Amino acid sequence: MPKIKKLLVANRGEISLRIMRTAREMGIQTVAVYSEADRLSPHVIFADEAVCLGPPPSAQSYLLGDKIIAACRELGVDAIHPGYGFLSENAAFARQVMDAGLIFVGPSASSIEVMGSKLAAKQAVAKYKIPLVPGTEEAITDIAEAKARASEIGYPILIKASAGGGGKGMRIVEDESEFEDQMQRAVSEAQSSFGDSAVFIEKYITSPRHIEIQILGDQHGKVVYLFERECSIQRRHQKVIEEAPSAVVSPEMRRAMGEAAVGVARACDYYGAGTVEFIVDENLDFYFLEMNTRLQVEHPVTEMITGKDLVREQILIAEGESLSFTQDELYINGHALEVRVYAEDPANNFLPDIGKLTTYKRPQGPGVRVDDGFEEGMDIPIYYDPMIAKLVTYGSDRAAAIQRMVGAIEEYKITGIQTTLGFCKFAIQHEAFVSGQFDTKFVDEYFDPKVLSQDFTELEEEILAALAVEFIAKEKKGSAKPSGRIKDSESAWRNRLK
Ligand code: ADP
Ligand code: ADP
Ligand code: MG
Repeated sequence: MPKIKKLLVANRGEISLRIMRTAREMGIQTVAVYSEADRLSPHVIFADEAVCLGPPPSAQSYLLGDKIIAACRELGVDAIHPGYGFLSENAAFARQVMDAGLIFVGPSASSIEVMGSKLAAKQAVAKYKIPLVPGTEEAITDIAEAKARASEIGYPILIKASAGGGGKGMRIVEDESEFEDQMQRAVSEAQSSFGDSAVFIEKYITSPRHIEIQILGDQHGKVVYLFERECSIQRRHQKVIEEAPSAVVSPEMRRAMGEAAVGVARACDYYGAGTVEFIVDENLDFYFLEMNTRLQVEHPVTEMITGKDLVREQILIAEGESLSFTQDELYINGHALEVRVYAEDPANNFLPDIGKLTTYKRPQGPGVRVDDGFEEGMDIPIYYDPMIAKLVTYGSDRAAAIQRMVGAIEEYKITGIQTTLGFCKFAIQHEAFVSGQFDTKFVDEYFDPKVLSQDFTELEEEILAALAVEFIAKEKKGSAKPSGRIKDSESAWRNRLK
């Protein structure tokens, strides 16, 4: 296979920039695409050439596969990297790219197809003895039958859209009385959101952790795993904080999960970079959830602990190179943490908070990596995912990575919009996180937005003022006992800040 000379990145923002940086390092020319909303974005400015695809909505720009392929022909591009989101898991697009004689930096269209359907994926891996969450192996067609199966599995259960993604298309059913109603909603939602009404049932794991394995496979049948990423801190079934390695995975468990992930990859003749997601229950038993056939948002934490540039590996694999290392040559060095900086208001149920980055000052220093695609003064467009940046810290161990992250978050100055930074600082310092004993319900269990509503000194002043009022009132009645009261209140507000 020929070397890639010119690569078009069919994406935007931080991931487009991140991919182009590696391409440039490898001596490859870069082409960016953009919508009218992203005309002045850093990814456009960075690229050697850039092509405007159309108006801001994705359907009129970043999702226009034909237009992207036509641009490749015009500019003499020989390969397309799809990033994540957008066209990255669109099998028809991957096929079109190959048919146009271009290299798709990703897996084959057939691997994408199999793994794009959660049901087809489960069927494919069943032969490889991969543990699956108890549930139905086929799409539900008969409600009575499905209900009987649900009782067998035991409530609560989860109804999932086979074509779902991005944390959408899932419904929890607490008991049998809600079953039919929820099933009908799930089917119509699956049809309207994903164009595929197929749904299935899974046992709802009540104290789950989300732990995934990064894999790399070449086109000559060699597959390796690059260990795990812990992604249990989520809101709306979507990740906000990730780390590698996980605080609860032992070397034996790591090997078992890694080998299972390699089995999943083999089940669909996978090549390229991919992620096999598992759900882990309170006994640390793990079950296959799904495979993401693309570069993952949180891939930097794996890069930090393995020293491998995953985009570089993707490009080499796409060029037909053999992997240059074996499983035995891979090892974990240190610990990495990533927090996703979203333009969202944690105090308002993490709803998007779009606007202008009035102040935008990144943290720096040893062991600090910021992957972003914005500059101060820019607007966060309403049309796309509201992620501003990924802040990654590296340390010799978990405690060092956490400590560095606290400092980096404090140094990160963003005004003009609300972000998830304050929430992330709260979360990584929380006892549950520090001890490693947490699951995907962390936000529901421990996060009270009040902890972010005021800063420490403001809260202190407010409480002291309230105490003063109370004290004066009591003094008038002759019953003031200030010292004890202040102590109680002090511990009360310290608790609020924990
Ligand atoms: P991760 O890479 O960790 O799985 P996300 O689950 O947040 O990250 O998804 C990565 C990107 O892909 C996000 O921009 C998300 O919105 C998008 N995405 C994933 N699946 C779908 C889907 N089925 N439809 C639309 N967007 C999706
Ligand atoms: P998506 O394609 O949207 O990423 P996933 O199947 O990967 O869908 O699930 C996303 C998240 O939903 C998981 O990380 C986990 O938090 C939760 N989840 C999925 N399946 C289950 C389950 N069976 N029990 C409990 N939680 C689940
Ligand atoms: Mg997933």
